[in-house]
Amino acid sequence: MIDFTLTDEHRLLEQSVREWAAREVQPRIHDLDRAHQFDPAFLAGMASIGLLGVAVPQEYGGAGTDYISLGLASEELEYVDTSLRVIMSVHIGLNCLTLLAWGSEEQKQRYLVPQAQGRKIAGYGLTEPAAGSDARAIESVAVKRGDRWVLNGEKTWISLADLADHFLVFAWTDLQKKKVRDPAGITAFIVERTFKGFSSGPMKEKWGILAGNTGHFVMQDVEVPEENVVGRPDEGFKIAMFALDQGRFTVAAGATGLIRACRDASVKYAHERHTFGVEIGQHQLVKELIAQMESDYQAARLLWLRAGWLKNLGRRNTRETGLAKWFATVASERAAGDAVQVHGANGYSDEYPVGRFYRNCKGAVIYEGTREIHKIMQADYLLGYRVDRASRCELPPYRGS
Ligand SMILES: Cc1cc2nc3c(=O)[nH]c(=O)nc-3n(C[C@H](O)[C@H](O)[C@H](O)COP(=O)(O)OP(=O)(O)OC[C@H]3O[C@@H](n4cnc5c(N)ncnc54)[C@H](O)[C@@H]3O)c2cc1C
Repeated sequence: MIDFTLTDEHRLLEQSVREWAAREVQPRIHDLDRAHQFDPAFLAGMASIGLLGVAVPQEYGGAGTDYISLGLASEELEYVDTSLRVIMSVHIGLNCLTLLAWGSEEQKQRYLVPQAQGRKIAGYGLTEPAAGSDARAIESVAVKRGDRWVLNGEKTWISLADLADHFLVFAWTDLQKKKVRDPAGITAFIVERTFKGFSSGPMKEKWGILAGNTGHFVMQDVEVPEENVVGRPDEGFKIAMFALDQGRFTVAAGATGLIRACRDASVKYAHERHTFGVEIGQHQLVKELIAQMESDYQAARLLWLRAGWLKNLGRRNTRETGLAKWFATVASERAAGDAVQVHGANGYSDEYPVGRFYRNCKGAVIYEGTREIHKIMQADYLLGYRVDRASRCELPPYRGS
């Protein structure tokens, strides 16, 4: 039997996130967005309702909820503003869940517990000036010196770069393998902001997710203790890809929330605005835009729910999560463009939220696998060019709270 019913626990979480975001964020988001300002008080608010530990087991300081809950929280947060969902994507999706699956017990106690409790914030550093989709093109290197690794390199377009306390960072440790782009030469490290030689700065010219923090960081002879290597030294690339399976899930659910926000704003405006003697909702071409938003919303939601269900069961879901992310983000771009259209010139101003939705949606069509990379992945699965093999570490199934 397929059961689409959310549990009481899911409903409760959904309701508490919705209420918190409507109360604490909604009234201020327009001004924060215009001021290009991230408010750190949101992190404290999210921690206070357990959001910074969603889907992390209680034994590691988390809320002990399932993966569907992570999707629900992401959807509700992005309904209000993308910047909030980005926190879930990097802190929980890319970092906490990766440590949960790949971290040593010592790393979990030292890093995952304070992160899941919301006392520390976590980020993810893969992208570099010359390496985005082509992650093997990273230039960062780590050289072993005694019981430490010395890291040098620059990471760019990093969410929470100026805020996070800990970063999951990827660097080449085998320079021979780097020459031939063999990803087995890449290693994953936990780097703390306080490590000597680490510095960060904001992106100055960003035009979307303006209430969020995005930046770069530089590592100049940063000494990282051996015990901060995540997994084995040759597993960094696999770990980076594993992390994306979790981050993409939150992006998919978040983009679904953005479609819903576009739909709701468009329905409201279609009742308010009159042309040719009727409210614009009476015009068939406006109805078409709104109907498309509804079908995109429902389809996107089913896709991320399926991916979350597979995660709950502990089944591999790279393919399903990638499809959910690709579909939802492309649909959110369509919904945001159409929501602006429904609002006419008013949509082209910041008086209404749809202009912000339009600026915000585009990032997700680029990060965590661009639209083109996801298209290629889905085609490759069908053509038999891509097969997911079992990994040494997998996301643990949900075992109940
Ligand atoms: C707001 C924001 C936040 C981000 N946060 C993070 C973060 O926290 N951590 C992190 O590590 N990174 C982060 N990123 C970086 C993001 O992951 C990269 O931007 C993304 O991987 C794309 O890389 P790129 O920008 O270098 O584009 P490129 O890889 O240079 O791609 C440029 C264009 O070429 C296309 N293309 C590339 N290769 C192919 C191919 N083989 N076939 C067909 N088309 C191709 C792409 O689809 C794209 O259209 C963030 C980006 C943004 C915008």
